Amino acid sequence: MTDLKSASTKFDSLTNGQCRPQTAALNFDVTGQIRLLDHYFPIVRMLSEGEIESFYQLVQHIAEHPNFDLQLIGPKRKNITDQMPSAVRHLVAGHLAEVFFFRQDILARFLHTARHFQIYTVPEAFQQDGGVAGGCYNPARECIQIVMSRLFEGFNGTAPGVCPFLHELGHMLDHFDAGCGSMGRCEGLYPGLRVSDGDVFTPAARNLFIKGKRLELNRYLARQSGDFSQPIPVGHPYVFQNDGEFLAGYLEMFFRNPHYFAAQNPDLYRAYCELFGYDARKAWTEDFPHYVNANRSFYLSGQTPSKTRLTIPNP
Ligand SMILES: [Zn+2]
Repeated sequence: MTDLKSASTKFDSLTNGQCRPQTAALNFDVTGQIRLLDHYFPIVRMLSEGEIESFYQLVQHIAEHPNFDLQLIGPKRKNITDQMPSAVRHLVAGHLAEVFFFRQDILARFLHTARHFQIYTVPEAFQQDGGVAGGCYNPARECIQIVMSRLFEGFNGTAPGVCPFLHELGHMLDHFDAGCGSMGRCEGLYPGLRVSDGDVFTPAARNLFIKGKRLELNRYLARQSGDFSQPIPVGHPYVFQNDGEFLAGYLEMFFRNPHYFAAQNPDLYRAYCELFGYDARKAWTEDFPHYVNANRSFYLSGQTPSKTRLTIPNP
């Protein structure tokens, strides 16, 4: 049996054949050659060789960090973290590195205390342990819960696609209080957007976020009242349910369809650039089109968008 085949068999037996990682991830599992993971992190496409090296050093740093509490859970809540595939560990660590590569000050605060991520081998294991919907952030346990196959599902094409982990990370960041370093906040703001965040507070990002979010909300409300004269909001009605979904949905869109996002709402887009310290458009010649198309087709269908509980922070 080749090494690659045995890596694939390992995933099959761990997940009942339900998680089929791409060949690149399997190869990484076998060889440990980190550059095999380039496909998972669009940021690599805009970095210099030297920066790419620093990026992967950061990925390794997170993957081995004592406060990066990544657990693997099987059916009947059995903790089998000792069987965690290296590709899974580095994929999750890499998403954190990608979001915070240019804001390692925020990342350092985030990892100052244990941060919990629970990966499930199969959907039944996820449900047995209280997982909700297709993945979730569980505030009581302060952890992201997600089925392993969902980490890989958006990476079968030539460019990265859906990334439910980034969505759940948006929820987790909403709960993170960068000022005191603990979880338990939940005000619809990322770390770095509150005055109380101290050194990591980024005033320009906060101002733009408030301005840009207000514009999104006004456009959404216009659609609700049947006024079609304004441009459509960037996000789907799903993310207008409340402030938490807004943070989760727009975080994922910044990292997947930055061109459309920036064209529709330049202020809100710039808030993300200021906050994360880089312009994600440099990594994308063309957006991942799925969210753009799904969101556009909803608003153009003439359906009335559902109720929103979005709030706008005080300037
Ligand atoms: Zn959500």
